Amino acid sequence: MPDNPKLIPQTDKPKTASKKVGRRKQKGVLTSNTHLPPDDRIFVNCEGANKNFMTDTHSKETRSYNMSRIKGKNTKPELVVRRFLFANGFRYRLHAKNLPGKPDIVLPKYKTVIFVNGCFWHGHQNCKYFVPPKTRTEWWLQKITNTQKRDRQAKTELQSLGWRVITIWECELKPKKVEERLNALLSYLLSMK
Ligand SMILES: [Zn+2]
Repeated sequence: MPDNPKLIPQTDKPKTASKKVGRRKQKGVLTSNTHLPPDDRIFVNCEGANKNFMTDTHSKETRSYNMSRIKGKNTKPELVVRRFLFANGFRYRLHAKNLPGKPDIVLPKYKTVIFVNGCFWHGHQNCKYFVPPKTRTEWWLQKITNTQKRDRQAKTELQSLGWRVITIWECELKPKKVEERLNALLSYLLSMK
């Protein structure tokens, strides 16, 4: 008996207890959102998506993992906006091909479209992320100028069809600015109701 005194407590209660915690965590991450379309699955796990749901089923570890998915450097800017909108109860269409410029996000109820623009590809003026490449500079600048022209054209056409057009820049979704930008978006949308 004195040879291995640790054996007794480990084989009994603690084992079942830790098993439960493990299962619960898994449930929150995997099972709860498989009914959603693949792109939207992560929404359920967003901070603030549903506060009650979060508190009940998510451990601290899961939550910080979720936030890292939102704030993380591998997060596509458009997805950040979509997750935020979804978590706040907005429903939308994506890349509407029937609309000028194929807006990234369409909010029919709000008669609003959102473009999420990469600072480089769309030539964001006075932005540190818009740096013309050192090789083939002219070619790139021409390409980006054409994109800007198309962007302006699409905006004009959309507005003449009665749509409100919002442009969100990639640089506005960087960790330091994302919260402010998305809250501004939310206020804007809610002010239309
Ligand atoms: Zn920018």
